[in-house]
Amino acid sequence: MSSLPDYVVIKDPYSPDKEVLLTPAQPFSFPLSDPDLTIIKTLEAKFDAEENCAGLAAPQLGFSKQGIIFAAPYSPELKKWRPDLIDTMPKTVWLNARYQPFGTEQSIDYEGCFSVGGFAGPVARYKTIDYEAFLIDGSRVTGRVQGFLARLIQHEIDHTHGILFSSLVPKGQLLPLDHYRRLRAEAMEKGRSD
Ligand SMILES: [Zn+2]
Repeated sequence: MSSLPDYVVIKDPYSPDKEVLLTPAQPFSFPLSDPDLTIIKTLEAKFDAEENCAGLAAPQLGFSKQGIIFAAPYSPELKKWRPDLIDTMPKTVWLNARYQPFGTEQSIDYEGCFSVGGFAGPVARYKTIDYEAFLIDGSRVTGRVQGFLARLIQHEIDHTHGILFSSLVPKGQLLPLDHYRRLRAEAMEKGRSD
């Protein structure tokens, strides 16, 4: 792929078409059209080009379509940052994905997003969710996941509904990314010495 699209970034005055981030995206229909396949290929190429990326959604690249890509494989590094990494999943593309909470328990953890550049904030998410999604070939998948993977899936599916994590952060708690990283590093140091 010769050039990949830039992220649509909500607070960047130069980023075009920001409404796409706040607008519920359109579902795909099957079999996928060639333009839809191109959107999915672009999403995957953008994801592959990132070093530290857990997930992306098509609206972040300016496509108002219900497509997401994410990965939560086990790694000691990820487990260190996300102790609630319980269920894992290799790189996955889902279309028209939905989730429902299983139970009412929530956990609070920090999230960031390429479309909310430079900030992180605490978000309450359901600990366990049931999901339903479609694969590129149109087959349907369902399942139940918990922990960090459930958080990641909720963040990405929310994108396809026009919801950014920053709208779920309690007022005044959105932090500049470097401030957040410092807090997190301090918390991990403390965790090790306890
Ligand atoms: Zn995001």
